[in-house]
Amino acid sequence: MSSLVVGRLAPSPTGALHLGNARTFLLAWLSVRSRAGRLILRIEDLDGPRVKPEATRTLIHDLRWLGLDWDDGPDVGGPNGPYVQTERTERYQRAVEQLNAAGQLYPCVCSRTDIQNAASAPHPGEDGPRYPGTCQGRFEDGAAATRFAGREPAWRVRVPAEEITFCDELLGNVSMDVSRLAGDFVVQKNNGTPAYQLAVVVDDAAMGVNEVVRGDDLLSSTPRQIVLQRYLELPRPAYYHVPLVIGPDGLRLAKRHGDTRLSAFRDAGIEAHRVVGLLAHWCGLAAPGESLTPQQLLPRFDWRRLPLSPVVCDRQRALEQL
Ligand code: GLU
Repeated sequence: MSSLVVGRLAPSPTGALHLGNARTFLLAWLSVRSRAGRLILRIEDLDGPRVKPEATRTLIHDLRWLGLDWDDGPDVGGPNGPYVQTERTERYQRAVEQLNAAGQLYPCVCSRTDIQNAASAPHPGEDGPRYPGTCQGRFEDGAAATRFAGREPAWRVRVPAEEITFCDELLGNVSMDVSRLAGDFVVQKNNGTPAYQLAVVVDDAAMGVNEVVRGDDLLSSTPRQIVLQRYLELPRPAYYHVPLVIGPDGLRLAKRHGDTRLSAFRDAGIEAHRVVGLLAHWCGLAAPGESLTPQQLLPRFDWRRLPLSPVVCDRQRALEQL
């Protein structure tokens, strides 16, 4: 087996890059590049209503402005493309068929918000209550025409009633009982859109990704993804869930904390290497006020230097530190 590290940047084009997600992407880049690995840019644009038309171009521009690069991606091509999820739907469809053929899915006609939101990664507050299993066993012996009560169903995966345990590279052993926390979760919405949980698992495997670096607000998605990896017999990548950047109110960095988009600092005349210096300082890799490129950080990079508590910041604090 090859020991090449393969990582990915997987932004959703639902908004501009801000200091919080830029820091996570810098860490993902450093982790791969410091070990001469391969990096993929994958655009996660399945959530139609939330995706903004110009956002992919802006994201790519912002990432490049910071000094990050990738080997495979929508703008550079690569052996496992396409690198935009809406262009990969037949792959997700095949996985849904495989799960269904193995009896691991059931149709669901409930009108619940977890179905509406399934195409996006569930960030805190977006994950609805546990699905109580209302549609489990409901359509097993109905006549074909009336099977789904005249409605297009969503599809849910049957989750085993057990603790799913994995070893996060930063947090150590994590154990969660998906059946208790989320219940049977959606893998395909009733309009045919694949769910984030399914798409990410299918793509990471198809693209040979063996290292996932992402915000720890997605920690509760990982056991769901492990359930799907088991059912689909796909390998499990190494996971690094990194602490988030939060506002002084303790909430995930957002508009209410002022404009922390990279473009806002760029437009204010602040140079990229000062922003990288601030992000690196938050990662335990630079002194306050240092100016650096991502390349210059490579010899310093060490996961053990990353503080495991969230960074507290808003626009004003960032400006004071830049
Ligand atoms: N596209 C997801 C998001 O921006 C991240 C998915 C992942 O890293 O697994 O929230």
